[in-house]
Amino acid sequence: TAAAVEELIAPPVQVSYTQHLINGRFLDAASGRTFPTYDPRTGDVLAHVAEGDAEDIDRAVAAARKAFDEGPWPKMTPYERSKILLRFADLVEKHNDELAALETWNCGKPYEQSARSELPMLARLFRYYAGWADKIHGLTVPADGNHHVQTLHEPIGVAGQIIPWNFPLIMFAWKVGPALACGNTIVLKTAEQTPLTALYAAKLFHEAGLPPGVLNVVSGYGPTAGAALASHMDVDKLAFTGSTETGKVVLELAARSNLKPVTLELGGKSPFIVCEDADVDKAVELAHFALFFNQGQCCCAGSRTYVHERVYDEFVEKAKARALKRSVGDPFKEGIEQGPQIDVEQFEKVLRYIRAGIDGNATLECGGERLGSKGFFVKPTVFSNVQDDMLIANDEIFGPVQSILKFKDLDEVVRRANTTRYGLAAGVFTKSIDVANSLSRALRVGTVWINCFDVFDAAIPFGGYKMSGIGREKGIYSLNNYLQVKAVVMPLKDPAW
Ligand code: ADP
Repeated sequence: TAAAVEELIAPPVQVSYTQHLINGRFLDAASGRTFPTYDPRTGDVLAHVAEGDAEDIDRAVAAARKAFDEGPWPKMTPYERSKILLRFADLVEKHNDELAALETWNCGKPYEQSARSELPMLARLFRYYAGWADKIHGLTVPADGNHHVQTLHEPIGVAGQIIPWNFPLIMFAWKVGPALACGNTIVLKTAEQTPLTALYAAKLFHEAGLPPGVLNVVSGYGPTAGAALASHMDVDKLAFTGSTETGKVVLELAARSNLKPVTLELGGKSPFIVCEDADVDKAVELAHFALFFNQGQCCCAGSRTYVHERVYDEFVEKAKARALKRSVGDPFKEGIEQGPQIDVEQFEKVLRYIRAGIDGNATLECGGERLGSKGFFVKPTVFSNVQDDMLIANDEIFGPVQSILKFKDLDEVVRRANTTRYGLAAGVFTKSIDVANSLSRALRVGTVWINCFDVFDAAIPFGGYKMSGIGREKGIYSLNNYLQVKAVVMPLKDPAW
């Protein structure tokens, strides 16, 4: 109801940090400018934050450069680095509720999700990479000829990291965890919508013993601060998560400047395939979660729900009933499943796509409009009779809009599922091991979730095929993004033995 989104709870946290964190100190922007960050429940200004531009990025990169070139970070023993990551994870647990409240306030996601799922994942991920810090080593290589050959796995240097607003702290973890474990130093640029929690987390990292200059956090806009970081000549590696459009821009900036290697985690239009043998109630619940989780603001959202014709009608009926039951409201209230969209731009974009769905003759089963009169709440929306050529079946909507499509056989659905420029993830719902195995091999995506979705363990690699990205994050795979391999070759005394 409208009341659910209009009678709001006062967030149980204060905003403590709004300046850049450079070289271990909080600093105003070089220009002295600030920009507003908002509470998406109301659209009101939550805080004013230092607005970084090229000069602030320069200062942060200089600090990171010095901390890398002069140490101590890359020269500390891996065990010492590991202990700092572990101490940080302890502090995250200690400050769980403040960090979670700040995340919910700035981002609009349910507090229970922040506090019980995302913050624990943050701590878990840093412990996972703390475990890697002292297990990174090269090889002895049996090359032809009379040589002793070894490889050294060394940190790359200064990592530039640009993150989005949908999971500010989780994205912080995926970027910062492996980079620090490998001995790099960092300049992180947060999304302009959600600058607050990364500053808080970076402050905790310094309390955990991180030397100054190792992790620098700059707030600001993409085309200014972000572009300055992507094109900086003294940044040795760039990691980016965001839209495919902006991914192309930063890749070009990296290429035109110093050819820094780039990893990209970009958009998606993930299929969720419900096979004819599926238990419909369970499939409905999982497909609902796959799309609506985090207000539909997930790059891997299951945004094309393909349902076998034999169970299609029942599925549509139940998917609609489930969406109508979804509790939307103040994300600080208990039991709320869905908060507001992040900002007015995204809110209007989602409503435009809903209009395009209606105009394109998809069947609007429920939702289709805003909820209440303030903030950025959108009613959970379900379209059936969606066809592959409709706009809503092709573009990333990034909102609570489920599109249900019908299919007849598996070859057909694989072909249709793969007919997209994206390739981030897919869901498959079936009781058949054969179907699960053949679909997981046929789908051209970075993750296939069988009878589950959005499982984000620290050890599981994540990333995209095609225009969903380059490279993998998390797990052992992320370490390669932050390491150089050096071959060391020396002659052996002849005869060698
Ligand atoms: P969205 O459209 O979801 O906001 P973006 O890809 O634009 O996604 O934003 C993701 C991140 O990329 C944010 O931190 C944003 O500030 C940054 N960004 C946007 N434009 C640029 C750019 N031209 N250069 C570098 N970073 C950018």
